[in-house]
Amino acid sequence: MLIRDVLKQLKADGQLSFSCEFFPPKSPEGEATLWSTIEKLQPFSPSFVSVTYGAGGTTQDVSLGVTQKIVHDTGMPTLAHLTCVGASRAELSVIVDKFAEAGIENILALRGDPTNGPGTPWVTAEGGFTYAIELVEMLSERGGFSIGVAVFPEGHPESSSLDQDARVLADKQRAGADFAVTNLFFSAQHYFAMVERAAAFGCDMPILPGLMPVTNYNQIARFATLSGAEFPVELAEKFEAIKDDSEAVINLGIESTTELAQELIAGGAPGIHLYTLNRSRSTRDIFTNLGVNA
Ligand SMILES: Cc1cc2nc3c(=O)[nH]c(=O)nc-3n(C[C@H](O)[C@H](O)[C@H](O)COP(=O)(O)OP(=O)(O)OC[C@H]3O[C@@H](n4cnc5c(N)ncnc54)[C@H](O)[C@@H]3O)c2cc1C
Repeated sequence: MLIRDVLKQLKADGQLSFSCEFFPPKSPEGEATLWSTIEKLQPFSPSFVSVTYGAGGTTQDVSLGVTQKIVHDTGMPTLAHLTCVGASRAELSVIVDKFAEAGIENILALRGDPTNGPGTPWVTAEGGFTYAIELVEMLSERGGFSIGVAVFPEGHPESSSLDQDARVLADKQRAGADFAVTNLFFSAQHYFAMVERAAAFGCDMPILPGLMPVTNYNQIARFATLSGAEFPVELAEKFEAIKDDSEAVINLGIESTTELAQELIAGGAPGIHLYTLNRSRSTRDIFTNLGVNA
């Protein structure tokens, strides 16, 4: 099912989109965890689920395999992430054909992080793309997919200004994108300001806030370095006070993400996308708190 149709129907019915992200497992144990998580989340009837795409051939094959299995075994609308890393236009075209043959109808068109990690210079593959918008154009010309794109409420780390990101997002919509999913963030004001900036450049497609509940105290320090997302000091202090109690950390992660989601929904967000890290507990509790029933 095309996600653009899912989102249109939800809007027409006055409903919100609730979705979640998984990553391709790297071991048999990881695979078992993922499928057990999917089994526990499927009863919530997510509006769609997404599967990330890693650098390197094996991870890419696992991404395709997992996405295809979700499509076939669960029938849930499924969004396959795809990046431009290390691939020429012709190679991307072959991958896209494989996605289509596997029954995948939705692609999150991304540039991907530089091969040496975030913060290092981006190197365009020979005959490849420099920006995600070129992949959006290619998918749009090919047809048959609903296309999603990424957006960074606090600015992409390589971007010269927040306005540049907003202009790029609006251009992606004009190039054929149907919806956007945000990078993780922890303050609703970043999301609202970004939506307003993008609207000023003509972007009116649904922008789904991507939220990651804290499940482990050590994640907090990594958020800023890995994704540039600012973690509010007051919230960090609350986590600091309970950091040795892993159960309390998970519960505070659920509570704070629920509150953030409620604020976003009250302010007009079209739904919530949860980064699950392939675990179901926090996602299930947040969905339940938001009135999404299994
Ligand atoms: C929701 C989400 C899911 C993700 N999933 C994955 C995943 O599965 N696998 C993975 O490897 N990575 C993933 N990422 C990370 C993402 O690929 C990187 O953060 C990447 O650096 C940026 O991707 P992009 O699609 O926004 O790139 P782009 O849109 O190409 O933007 C990259 C930079 O270039 C600038 N720019 C863009 N277009 C132009 C232009 N035409 N002219 C001038 N400047 C321009 C932008 O402002 C930005 O600074 C994800 C990110 C998000 C938010």
